[in-house]
Amino acid sequence: MLSVSLPTCILELNIYFLWYEVYVGVMFVLHEWSIAESIVVSSAKIAAEQGASKVVKVYVKVGELSQLELEILKSAANELKREYDVVRDAEFVFEVEEARFKCLNCGYSWGFSEVKRKINEIFCGSPDRECDNPIHYVPDLVNSFIRCPKCGSPDFEVVTGRGVYIAKIDFVK
Ligand SMILES: [Zn+2]
Repeated sequence: MLSVSLPTCILELNIYFLWYEVYVGVMFVLHEWSIAESIVVSSAKIAAEQGASKVVKVYVKVGELSQLELEILKSAANELKREYDVVRDAEFVFEVEEARFKCLNCGYSWGFSEVKRKINEIFCGSPDRECDNPIHYVPDLVNSFIRCPKCGSPDFEVVTGRGVYIAKIDFVK
């Protein structure tokens, strides 16, 4: 069996936009289906380019910040793959890629879990407790919580965890 590794980004998501997706139920599901379709179509295209006769496995990384439901993505991909012979029998494996940020001021790097803990601490009384909070309704508020935990600078970049991409495809010629 052969495999091809390729960071083919299906979707680069804007971090500020993401938070809206989660709370718009129908849009949310439609969103997952359109992403699953891009994944299936891209897999079939890559397989054709590689001269594959059959794709065995497709590894997809889903950025933590995308807030996408892996189960919906998986069932959508399983439904949609039937339309393409080369990926018809492929297993689509979805994995969450942790979000990481890097401060452009001091260079410190941190994960999204630190941001979530901070939000929980402020609104829910404890870093380990999740609760209903204003960020759910005013998503832009999250910007003010993403600051460098070390120097406090709001100037940061998202290093990983923003997009959805096909990491690897296993196939037979
Ligand atoms: Zn910093």
